[in-house]
Amino acid sequence: MISDTIIELNGLTKKYEQLTAVDYLTLSVHRGEIFGLLGPNGAGKTTTILMLLGLAEPTAGKIEVCGIDPTFQPLIVKEKVGYLPDEVGFYENLSGWENLLYTAALNRITISVAEERARHLLGQVGLTQKAHEKVQTYSRGMKQRLGLADILIKEPEIIILDEPTNGIDPEGVRELLTLIKQLNREKGMTVLLSSHNLHQVQQICDRVGLFVEGKLIAIGPIKELASDLFKNDPVLLEVEAEPVDEQLLTAIKTNQYVTKVEQKQNCLLIFSRQHVSAEIAGIIVSHGARLSHLNQHDYGLDEIYHRYFEGGM
Ligand code: ATP
Repeated sequence: MISDTIIELNGLTKKYEQLTAVDYLTLSVHRGEIFGLLGPNGAGKTTTILMLLGLAEPTAGKIEVCGIDPTFQPLIVKEKVGYLPDEVGFYENLSGWENLLYTAALNRITISVAEERARHLLGQVGLTQKAHEKVQTYSRGMKQRLGLADILIKEPEIIILDEPTNGIDPEGVRELLTLIKQLNREKGMTVLLSSHNLHQVQQICDRVGLFVEGKLIAIGPIKELASDLFKNDPVLLEVEAEPVDEQLLTAIKTNQYVTKVEQKQNCLLIFSRQHVSAEIAGIIVSHGARLSHLNQHDYGLDEIYHRYFEGGM
């Protein structure tokens, strides 16, 4: 992957009256990568995307997209960036083919080039059979794929997709993600996508930025994020025992390597700096409790999600 920067955000901030929707965001996206903006609803992902496109004005900070400031030159950015919003709007009573040709005309692409690209793109997104049917007969997954073809017809340098998999069935999601990955690999196209679905993002993103309440709290490849976020307590033990009382909890917490214990009924999540399964089992048994399950857990997306998105910070 070539690692020059294609999107650069520096201290980007957007306030809506009292609310800071995006809070001093500093971030670089490299040419040719798939970057995921990951965060729960309301985290500020859409607002960030709108500023990247010149569709919302930042309160403070700097943006460069392909070396251009979209706030001042939104039309030039529009030529270089394809944007697939959460809800794709098509002319429903026109066919997929007609919609693509219409978009091409708006982008001043000659009819012969447009027809060639539309044919190729419809094939690529698996819509050749449906090309001449009205869009109103398409499923949401098909519309998203047509949306991809629609933004690709102008051959953009970057594609930005806002929650592209929302409302699509699992098979449709799989097809769409495969397609995005394929476009990225074949054309070296930079992809920025937003999502609240960690598992989907993990499947295709080279790097992700974790957004919570307008702030970027971590950035990097998911594997590195996990080890970075958990470097103080890299071991997680999942234990089921009965009964769990205060005395037992205190005894576990006093182990020198244990950093944190979370309790959900009889299930304990024990975070520690070292492997302590034998010691923990010993403590439980010596307290007269019955140990029914003990498992060392690998850190992954679920723990990140739990720690950052579900208020476990
Ligand atoms: P979602 O996935 O729900 O779209 P998001 O991460 O994209 O979430 P944003 O849509 O960027 O989040 O919203 C960030 C915050 O800014 C939210 O609290 C939202 O209510 C607020 N917000 C967004 N647009 C406006 C607006 N035009 N006026 C006032 N507040 C807004």
